[in-house]
Amino acid sequence: MGFWWRPLGVLAGVMFVALLLWADSGWVAALTFLAGIQAFVMLRRLLQEYRLSRWLENPDEVDPPDATGTWGDIFYRLDKLQRRQRASRSELTNALEQFEHAAQAVPDGMIILNRSDQIEWCNPASRKYLGLDCERDRGQFIRYLLRQAHFLEFLDAVDYSKRLVCKSPINREVTLSLQLVPFGASQKLLVARDITDLERVDAMRRDFIANVSHELRTPLTVVGGFVETLADAPDLPATESKRYFDLMLDHTRRMQHLLDDLLTLSQLESDDHALKDDVPINVHDLAEALKSDAESLSRGRHNIQLKLDSQAGLKGNLQEVRSALGNLVSNAVRYTPDGGKITLAWREQGDEGVFSVADTGEGIAPEHIPRLTERFYRVDRSRSRETGGTGLGLAIVKHVLTRHGARLDIQSIPGKGSTFSVAIPAQRIQRQVVSDNGKVIPFPERGQAVGSA
Ligand code: ADP
Repeated sequence: MGFWWRPLGVLAGVMFVALLLWADSGWVAALTFLAGIQAFVMLRRLLQEYRLSRWLENPDEVDPPDATGTWGDIFYRLDKLQRRQRASRSELTNALEQFEHAAQAVPDGMIILNRSDQIEWCNPASRKYLGLDCERDRGQFIRYLLRQAHFLEFLDAVDYSKRLVCKSPINREVTLSLQLVPFGASQKLLVARDITDLERVDAMRRDFIANVSHELRTPLTVVGGFVETLADAPDLPATESKRYFDLMLDHTRRMQHLLDDLLTLSQLESDDHALKDDVPINVHDLAEALKSDAESLSRGRHNIQLKLDSQAGLKGNLQEVRSALGNLVSNAVRYTPDGGKITLAWREQGDEGVFSVADTGEGIAPEHIPRLTERFYRVDRSRSRETGGTGLGLAIVKHVLTRHGARLDIQSIPGKGSTFSVAIPAQRIQRQVVSDNGKVIPFPERGQAVGSA
């Protein structure tokens, strides 16, 4: 209602003046006055309409025209409307930008397709996995860009519950899982997820189960066979049945050994981040304990030597370190023919400490060396089994060393022998200390228990 007061007031005033003029100077003067006012109002209106149209041409850049009265009111309201629109436009732009940033950061490839499967939008990850380029390929039919038959079948099936697992068309090493998600009126979102690692873990899990079953099958079959024989022939001569029992014991030990190694591996894997019981270890004591283990395993068949050039100690989990080095020593004994030489050495090299186990055994061909630390990898399966191997020893060694930040280096010449060296990083090395009277005290003090693996 406020809008009407002013113009109606002005109109009333004009009519009043016109009436006065009529009474005073006659109707011609009154009409001339009214015509003048009318012309003024029209001109003013034209002027304001012109200013309004100029402003509307570019409302974001130009300020609203200045005016009083009803025109002032109109301009004020239009300006308010315009500001409100500007604010909601900038809110929308912000939201869109945020969405755009989020979509750019998503590690999965995302492609928006319209009802005819033309690309409307895609994120940078879709270039990495599918070779699409958002700028270049916008508006293209996806079926002309990704032409693999299984992809076209998947696209045409329009079954949103299914996923397609396939190799990336631009990198055969990458396995993708593709999924179509419907949205909006008739649009689709194609999501491409990299599942290479999952696939690898799955393949490893399948291999692992197959390997463990395979390893257990032979001893179980043997033990089962002997138990049947003994059950069917209770009067077997004592020497014969003793031989059977010995063989059964042998195979049972093998299974026990395998389970022990599997448990050790699984413990190491589950503890991957936390290295507990990090204590100073006297390497000389440890080396002597390992030598004595090697001698009892060798039963005099090998010449076993110690070569301890460094007085330094190391810091680590004693049980794990002993088990890892013990595996290397046991391998040296098992893969070195009778009469061979085995040397356990400890030296400093740069700021690292190196513990090595060298043998004059059968050696390993170079193509096998990079794979030796894989679970169940053996150069000669039957040789490993004959000597009581499980194929897990070096996998355990690798795990323990990784937990200690150490490396395993393998040098080998077939027919001549192998050297397995463990390089222990400087921060785990504990140097000797020189006491006040100049006496060298290895660290830690000699005679400290080395525990058992
Ligand atoms: P295994 O229980 O079979 O010994 P490991 O993981 O300890 O399993 O070793 C893997 C393979 O590496 C062995 O099967 C063997 O072929 C090879 N190997 C390990 N140590 C030696 C060595 N000192 N000399 C020759 N071959 C070795």
